[in-house]
Amino acid sequence: MKKRDFGWLVSLPFYAVHVAAVVGVMLVGFSWKGVALALALYYVRMFGVTGGYHRYFSHRTYRTSRAFQFFLALLAQSSVQKGALWWAAHHRDHHKYSDTPKDPHSYRDYGFWYSHVGWILSTETEDTDYSRISDLARYPELRWLNNWHVVPAVVLAVGLWLVGSWPALVWGFFVSTTLLWHGTFTINSLSHIWGKRRYATTDYSKNNPVLAIVTMGEGWHNNHHYYPRSVRQGFHWWQIDMTYYVLRALALVGIVWDLHVPSQKVIDGDVEVRVKKPARALAPQVETETSQVPVPVAVVEALSTPALSEAAAE
Ligand SMILES: [Zn+2]
Ligand SMILES: [Zn+2]
Repeated sequence: MKKRDFGWLVSLPFYAVHVAAVVGVMLVGFSWKGVALALALYYVRMFGVTGGYHRYFSHRTYRTSRAFQFFLALLAQSSVQKGALWWAAHHRDHHKYSDTPKDPHSYRDYGFWYSHVGWILSTETEDTDYSRISDLARYPELRWLNNWHVVPAVVLAVGLWLVGSWPALVWGFFVSTTLLWHGTFTINSLSHIWGKRRYATTDYSKNNPVLAIVTMGEGWHNNHHYYPRSVRQGFHWWQIDMTYYVLRALALVGIVWDLHVPSQKVIDGDVEVRVKKPARALAPQVETETSQVPVPVAVVEALSTPALSEAAAE
């Protein structure tokens, strides 16, 4: 694992939440109500991560109003994964430099733990590169929220304590947040290690049904690297993608619109897409989920970069 400068002071709250989860459960005791609360807040906030941070802010796979855009940022940031602008800027770099030394959390270059959590605790990734997210940085409310990124999480924690006292705070915030962090982080670590490759992308991304359940559809990570602008990451009916189902429901009532989906030809891998950058000497194996011949398709860099010229919100 690459040695980098870890911000120990900045990392302390990260470890403190883990300790509070374990010690807290020992103090308030086990309860099924607590487990249900932890899981409910896990999945509600996981939608903030997947439907907000990832599919909206990072990839702009659909459009929405400015008010709902702000709500998405609030919900996403209640997961305590820093500002939506910070998240999107780093994630766009992940796609641009996937599994190379410039990738902020390259499993190939820096190892499992760095790709899972080390990169977040590193001082090298503390800042937000606004040049990577100029389409979003023009909204002052998002810039404010990016600077004060812990506000939504603090409001949630205090709210839980006021409504349900210590058991609600322990289960609804500390336990739920710890699980939510590691659930999310599997996409940067395990989804580049464990699973099958359907498309010959220039990285190590994998499809994994278990991780798709844990992360509301993000486990179809090879599909996602193949076509990052798709609002759906499960390309087939059997590839469960709960984030996409929620977005479809929101589209039905007009809260979001212009959901971008790939054509059947793209999904079938029948379209030859040229790679802009030289494909790195990558691994090897293009395993397929079926016995089909590996498809002659590679991800094109342009597809990983959201259409910055589009208006973000109306
Ligand atoms: Zn990835
Ligand atoms: Zn992505």
